[in-house]
Formats: sequence, C-alpha cells, structure tokens
Amino acid sequence: MERARDPWEFTRARMVDEQLVRRGIVDERVLAAMRRVPRHRFVEEALRDRAYGDHPLPIGEEQTISQPYIVGLMSALLELSGREKVLEIGTGSGYQAAVLGELARRVCSIERLPRLAERARALLEELGYRNVWIRVGSGTLGWPDEAPFDRILVTAGSPAVPPPLFQQLAEDGRLVIPLGDETNQALTVVEKVRGEMRTRTHGECKFVKLVGKYAWEA
Ligand code: SAH
Repeated sequence: MERARDPWEFTRARMVDEQLVRRGIVDERVLAAMRRVPRHRFVEEALRDRAYGDHPLPIGEEQTISQPYIVGLMSALLELSGREKVLEIGTGSGYQAAVLGELARRVCSIERLPRLAERARALLEELGYRNVWIRVGSGTLGWPDEAPFDRILVTAGSPAVPPPLFQQLAEDGRLVIPLGDETNQALTVVEKVRGEMRTRTHGECKFVKLVGKYAWEA
C-alpha cells in the first residue's frame, strides 16, 4: 500500500539542504532523520507555516523549540550509531526527542513542566515513537534508574555540567550541553575518558535556562 504523501516533505528537504547541509552538517543519518520527522506537528497550528524556518519558535510556557540547525548540530555532535541509550534534558515540544528516537536505540527525556511533557508524550505516541520515554522531573538530577547513558543531551543553557549527569554518563560516553550565562552559551561536548572529563566547545548558542538544583533558579 502506498503511504499518503506528506505535503510538507518538500519543505522539509529544503530545510535540510539550506540550513543544515549548507552549514556543514554531514552526518547522513541526522540529515535523513530530519527529513522524516514532521516538525510542523511540534508547533501550534497557527505557527505551522513557519515551522521549517531558520529560527526557534515559541511552544508556550515561555519555552521554545530550537532552530532546526541547532537540533541538527547537537544531534551530529552526539555521534549516534543507532545502538545507544540516550538521556535528553528538556523535552519541550518533543521534536528533538523524536529526532533522537530515529537515531538511537532508546531515548529517555525529562521535562520539568507537566503540560509540555504531556503534550509531547501524546504526540510522540501518535507518531509511533515507541522507543522514546518522557518523564516529568528535575533534569539536573538525571534519571538514576535508567543510568548509565551512552549519550546525554541538555537542551537548555546551564552555568556548569550538573554533577549527577556526568555521573550517569557511561565510560567513553558523550554529553552535549550549552554552557554559559543566562543569555549566551557555548555548545560544549563533554567526554568521559577513564572517569575524567574532557571538554571542547563548538560555537555560540542561545537557549532558555536550565532550571534546577545544579543550574539556574526558576
Ligand atoms: N528540546 C526541546 C526544546 C527545549 S526548550 C524541543 O525539541 O522542543 C528547554 C526545555 O527545558 C523547556 O521545555 C524547559 O521547561 C525545560 N527545562 C528547563 N530546566 C529543566 C530541568 N531542570 N529539567 C527538565 N527540563 C527542564
């Protein structure tokens, strides 16, 4: 049976070419995932026409869905093969979680705001992402019952790496986090090598605040 053609497919392919490929993202699995995930479903209906634009968009509760390029860049920096167990902090709309669901074996995602978590959970279920688990909670504490994680992605800006997240990272694992002040951060890749932290940075970004015990106050 032929699947109904998605009218947004072309727009999505153009987003990937113009915003990701042109800026140097080469991971084919990431590009394919972002050609598949229906980003317009992760924003409210009134904003659908702008869903594939080169910018973040509001998702309610003063939070945002990240710019497509940033989602692509962070996903590429995680270097996923498909076998990993991944922890995401900051589910938000659930879009990044869906992209990770395409790229990894299992995704655990934590959101502190119950309304966002519930909406994302319902949408991901409707879209058939059976390997993505969403929980309401305080992300700077991680998800101890599911640790260790091969990869951790923090999609909110933090002053430092929350210690529980580094603890819950597997040996040779990799954590991607925007580190900086409340308005500007540097996208940072942290690796755990023989228990030690190795970091390098990857350019500037602007995320909403990571709120919690090991980050900013609400
Ligand atoms: N990844 C999201 C965008 C994240 S916006 C997407 O694809 O749409 C950042 C999210 O992090 C917000 O929803 C915010 O509520 C959440 N957040 C902030 N601090 C948090 C914490 N300590 N634990 C869990 N979620 C947190």
